[in-house]
Amino acid sequence: KVRVRFAPSPTGPLHLGGVRTALYDYLFAKSSGGNFILRIEDTDTARFVEGAEEYILEALDWCGIIPDESPKHGGKFGPYRQSERRDIYDKHLAELLKTDYAYLAFDTPEELDEIRKEFEEKGDVFSYNYISRNRLKNSLSLSDEEVKKLLDNETPYVVRFKMPVDRTLILEDIIRGTSNVNTNSLDDKVLIKQDGMPTYHFANVVDDHEMEISHVIRGEEWLPSLGLHFLLYEAFGWKKPQFAHLSLILKPEGKGKLSKRDGDKFGFPVFPLNFKDQETGNISKGYREEGYLPEAFINMVALLGWSPADDKEIISLEEMVKEFDLNKVHKAGARFSKEKAEWFNHQYLQQKSDDEILDNLKKLSEISESSISDDKLLKIIGLMKERATFIKDIYSEGIFFFNAPKTFDEKASKKSWNENTADILNKLLNKISATSFKAEDISTAIHDFATAESLGFGKIMMPLRLALVGELKGPDVPDLLEILGKTETEKRINFAIE
Ligand code: GLU
Repeated sequence: KVRVRFAPSPTGPLHLGGVRTALYDYLFAKSSGGNFILRIEDTDTARFVEGAEEYILEALDWCGIIPDESPKHGGKFGPYRQSERRDIYDKHLAELLKTDYAYLAFDTPEELDEIRKEFEEKGDVFSYNYISRNRLKNSLSLSDEEVKKLLDNETPYVVRFKMPVDRTLILEDIIRGTSNVNTNSLDDKVLIKQDGMPTYHFANVVDDHEMEISHVIRGEEWLPSLGLHFLLYEAFGWKKPQFAHLSLILKPEGKGKLSKRDGDKFGFPVFPLNFKDQETGNISKGYREEGYLPEAFINMVALLGWSPADDKEIISLEEMVKEFDLNKVHKAGARFSKEKAEWFNHQYLQQKSDDEILDNLKKLSEISESSISDDKLLKIIGLMKERATFIKDIYSEGIFFFNAPKTFDEKASKKSWNENTADILNKLLNKISATSFKAEDISTAIHDFATAESLGFGKIMMPLRLALVGELKGPDVPDLLEILGKTETEKRINFAIE
C-alpha cells in the first residue's frame, strides 16, 4: 500500500516550498489510493519554535490537504511526533551498535574545533570520516578499557555512523533518475546527539521504516543525505522506500531559491498564513490574510513544478488527485511569480457565486459597519467582480459606492468641466429623476437628453462621472446611478456643482 509522509520540523512556519512538498506528497498518496501522513520531526530541541506545529496543521487545513494520520488525526502508526518515539530509536540504535554500523564518539566540540582549525591552516577541510576517525576519540580508535573508563566517568558522547570505505552507491530517484556517490566523500554523520536525541537522519529512516512509508517525496536539499539514508536501510536490513526529490522554487528573477526575505522585501506572501516572528515581532505576510482563496493558492502551488495534461492551468484539488503523476514532475526549478499567483486568484474569484462573495465581503469591517443593503452589495459585486483580484478589491476599487467624493481629480476636472456644466447637469438630473431610476431607463434618459440638447455624449458622461466618482473611472454610469439611488445621486451632483 502506498504510504507517503510529510515530515516538517517545527522550526518555523511552512513556506511555499514546504506547502508544495506537502501537496505533492498528498497528491501522490491520494492518486495511488494510499495514505497521507503528517509526522512532526521535533528532535532538534535547539531549533524548536513554539507554535510551529499548530501553524503547520492550520496551514494544511486551510489548503485542504488533510492528513489521514497525524498527531491531531491519530492513526495506528503513532505517535506522530518524533520526540515521543525515543524508545523506538533506542531499540534500533542498540541493533546498529551491536552490528558495528555505529560507534561512540567522545570528542568534545572544543576538541573538534581545534582539529578543524588545524586542517584549515593547512588549507584542508576537516571531515569526521574513514581517515580521521582513527586519530579521534571514539570507540573505534580507543581500547575497550579506555571506552569503559570514559563511560564509567559519564563522559558525554554522540553516536556516529561508520561510513564504509570506498563503496560506490547507486542512488535511484523517481524524478532525477540514477546517480552515483562514493562513500569516501561522505562523513560519519552523528546519529544520536549528546542529549540522547536522534538526529534527523536516524529518526527519519527509522520512522519511515516503522511507519511503512512507501515513497519519500521531499525537497532537493535532502539529496546529499540520500547516500547515508541508503546505507542506514542496508545496515538495518530494511527495504528502502522509493525516493523523489523536488527541485527548488526559484525567485521571480529565476536565479536562486525563493526566500522569506524575498517576500518581505517585495511585499508578497511566501507563507500560507501570516507568521509573526517571536523574536522580532515582525509579521511576514500569509496568503490567507492577503485575501487569497485557498483553491487558487493550492492551484498556483501545484503548478510550481508539475503540469497537468493539455497544459491546462485551472485545476481543482480533486482533478489534481486524478491526474497527478510523479514521473511528470519537472527536474528544473520552478520560478515563482506574484503576478501568476494573483492571476489564479482572479480566475477563482470569477467562479465564486455572488452570494458567496457577499458573505466574505461583509466580513470587512468597512462593510459590516456601513448600513448598505445586501441588495446593493450584490449589484456592486456584479459590477466590480470582473476587475477584482481579491474580494477586498471590490470594496477598495468601488470605494465611491460607499463614500461620496470629497475632492475631484484636477486633470479630469479641467478636461470635463466648463461654465455650462452645472447647468447641463441640473437639467439632466431633472430628466433622470423622473425615471424609474433603473439603469436601462437612466441610459435612455441620458441619450434622449443628449439628442434633445444636441450635446456630445462625452460632454455629459464625463462630468457626470466626475461628480459621482471624483475621477474618471468606475463602471458604466447608468449602473452607478442605479446603485447610488436618487437621493445620493442628487446630493453628489449638487455638491459637485457648488
Ligand atoms: N524534517 C525534514 C524537514 O524538515 C524532513 C525531510 C524529509 O522529508 O526527509 O524538511
